Formats: sequence, structure tokens, C-alpha cells
Amino acid sequence: MKIAIYPGSFDPITKGHLDILKNASEIFDKVIIAVAHNGEKKGFLTVEERVMLIKESIKGFENVEVDSFKGLTIEYAKKHGAEVLIRGLRAVSDFEYEMQLSQTNSALCPDIKTVFLTTKPKYNFISSSTIKEILNNGGDISKFVPECVFQYLTKKC
Ligand code: ADP
Repeated sequence: MKIAIYPGSFDPITKGHLDILKNASEIFDKVIIAVAHNGEKKGFLTVEERVMLIKESIKGFENVEVDSFKGLTIEYAKKHGAEVLIRGLRAVSDFEYEMQLSQTNSALCPDIKTVFLTTKPKYNFISSSTIKEILNNGGDISKFVPECVFQYLTKKC
């Protein structure tokens, strides 16, 4: 059974994340979306809110689960018997950071490989930070996030 972890902030989950997830779920037997508790970054949503919205968004996927974790991603992956970490690539600007991250993880645990996936072009530019920016300025985010996220954030803000 090939298990893949898709780690990230998901603050909030977007249609870009979901497209990566769809591709991953077709390749691997089980995918765990793992929301990182990031001590340094103050989140827009709490980790509990993010997990709740992801749970709602992944209802159509049979082999996808959601969880949250503290500490190193690679340790979390080892604990769950995962062989693969999924990361998404948007533009060249993502590349340097993602490359450094994957090489660091590979140095820590060579058995766990990072697999990079891309989205359909229509979702490629979407990022959680742009969503927050649009939302804070009263714009319409409905095209960029799953319906449940749109409803929740509209009520919250
Ligand atoms: P992090 O804070 O770890 O970067 P994010 O929630 O922002 O977490 O993103 C998780 C992963 O999903 C990252 O690898 C990011 O590059 C990828 N990702 C996010 N949005 C997109 C998108 N629209 N297209 C491709 N990859 C994406």
C-alpha cells in the first residue's frame, strides 16, 4: 500500500490544493493531507478550522484523509508509514524553496521521496495568501475555493 502525505498550511484550502489532491489520489493508494501547526506563522484560520474545511472539501475522495501535526513533516511521514511527500509547484518562484525543502527532507530520510505535482492551468495561480488578500478587500473568492470554504469565510468575515 503506497501512502503519500500532502503537508502544508492550507490556510485555507483552495481549488489549487484540491486539484493536486485529486491527482495524488489517483496515483497513490492513500493520501493524508497533513495540516502543519506552524509555531512561527500566525494563521488566518485556526488549525481546527482548516481541518474542518478540508474534511468538508474532500467528501468525494475515498482514499483521502485529513490530519494535523506538530514537528517535522518527515517524522510524521515515517510514523504513518508513508513513502512519499506530495508538494505542488506553481511557478518558478516556488521551485527554489520546494527544491531546498525536498533535499533537506531527503537528507533526513532518504527512503521518503518528494513527488511534485502541478494543477490544471486554470488553478495554477491560486494561493491561500491571495485568497486572504481578496477577502480582506471585499472581493469575490468563490471561483478560487471549494463552496464550503466560500460559505464559511463569507460568514466569518
Ligand atoms: P506551505 O505553507 O507549506 O507552502 P500551502 O498550503 O501554501 O503550504 O501549500 C501546500 C503545497 O501546495 C505547496 O507545495 C504549494 O506549493 C502547493 N500549492 C498550493 N497552491 C497551489 C496551486 N495553485 N498549484 C500548485 N501547487 C499549489
